[in-house]
Amino acid sequence: MIRVLGTVFAALLGLAFGSFLNVCLSRWPQDESVAAPRSHCRSCGRTLPWWENVPLLSWLALRGRCRSCKAWIGWRYPLVELAVGVLWAVAAWRSVSGALIPDASLATLYGSVMLCVGQMIFYWLLVALAFLDAENLWLPNWLTLPGAGLGFVCAVLSAILRSHSLGNDALEPVRVAVARAAIGSLLGMVACGGLILLIRWIFWLVRKQEGIGLGDAKLMAMLGAWLGLPGAMLAMFVGVMLGSVAALVLLALPRMRGRSDDGSWAMIKLPLGTFLSIGGVVSGLWGERILSAYLRLAGWS
Ligand SMILES: [Zn+2]
Repeated sequence: MIRVLGTVFAALLGLAFGSFLNVCLSRWPQDESVAAPRSHCRSCGRTLPWWENVPLLSWLALRGRCRSCKAWIGWRYPLVELAVGVLWAVAAWRSVSGALIPDASLATLYGSVMLCVGQMIFYWLLVALAFLDAENLWLPNWLTLPGAGLGFVCAVLSAILRSHSLGNDALEPVRVAVARAAIGSLLGMVACGGLILLIRWIFWLVRKQEGIGLGDAKLMAMLGAWLGLPGAMLAMFVGVMLGSVAALVLLALPRMRGRSDDGSWAMIKLPLGTFLSIGGVVSGLWGERILSAYLRLAGWS
């Protein structure tokens, strides 16, 4: 019962924070304050009453258009709200099961709640980065770098919680488990960021132009800190696959072919960060299951 209530609460909170993220996504690129003025139509400037600001419902009721000027509000609004709502619900659903061990101490409970909040921030950041890169080809440092730091803290916290919940069944002392988690997170951060820098450098040597942005390197470092090296590699694999499919689809569309200056498809600017972020969500949600299935298939375990 607590689990269901907690999940519903997290979903509603996620819708609200998704709604706030929409304000950020519209105003950050314009360098506007997200606090003031109050929510208004981006087209006619009319300040919105509260009932035109209800996540999802208002958009559905108004069929995605401003009530007075009929300007198209866009798909991004309901999509972002839904994405954050669903991801937060899943994060809460999974965390509550861990926190409800019969003889869990108060410290374990607090730790689980903090870890759950950390994961919610992680998913919120990934949704933000996915849409910022898609709309503006922009991955701000002030999102990716603190995101990487938070990932490191949560990796350590998660290791402490795990060894406490295992108690005397734990295979190794808490100190060793924490050190292992910290090193794993740091290694993921450095290796993933470094890999993108290496690819960027090779691309530069071959084509004498920028292929991958520095923002993508920092985003991968953030994914490495959160997911560890194997999980982040999975995220990158998923992201590159999705990006390639998107590139092929664009290539197949006749009107896209004449777009670029030299007529080559390599010039089409694809938001790699968007695909990496989606890969990060996939790996965050199902990474452990996918990786263990892969290892079984490969006969390594
Ligand atoms: Zn309007």
